Amino acid sequence: MSEKILEVEMVTPEKISFREQADFVVVPAFQGELGVLPDHAPCLVQLKAGEVRVKKDEKVHHFAISGGFAEIKKNRVSLFAETAEMAGEIDSERARQALERARAEIRKEGIDPLTLAGAEAAIRRAQIRLQVAAKISR
Ligand code: ATP
Repeated sequence: MSEKILEVEMVTPEKISFREQADFVVVPAFQGELGVLPDHAPCLVQLKAGEVRVKKDEKVHHFAISGGFAEIKKNRVSLFAETAEMAGEIDSERARQALERARAEIRKEGIDPLTLAGAEAAIRRAQIRLQVAAKISR
């Protein structure tokens, strides 16, 4: 009998950025990290900005995503994300600059709530990118 395996795909509005087999996937669900093994119950999960880990044998791919949905069905994990970058694709200097820009934004006096929320989200995206960039896929 062949071993059960997951088919994982990462889809963004720009492209299908990744399609691989895996034996374990961890996604940043709103309720906390969700680990998915083969034969997981079908479900639709809302994702927040965070790290996705896709493990196959001893190799782990790390992604930074900025929110979306995961659909788990028949050993297929489809990740629909607003943005997604694999660890090795992340430009850390760009993320540091985005972090600085957003931090400067929230220090401004009289900042309106919408701008503040946008700057806070940008800080979160940049911090995740820096955290994931430090874990180049092994
Ligand atoms: P920036 O201000 O640097 O554009 P951002 O958080 O506003 O950062 P997003 O709107 O989340 O950027 O993403 C826009 C596009 O740029 C997406 O395709 C995303 O994958 C890509 N991207 C953003 N930051 C980086 C980065 N540091 N390294 C690689 N790609 C990035």
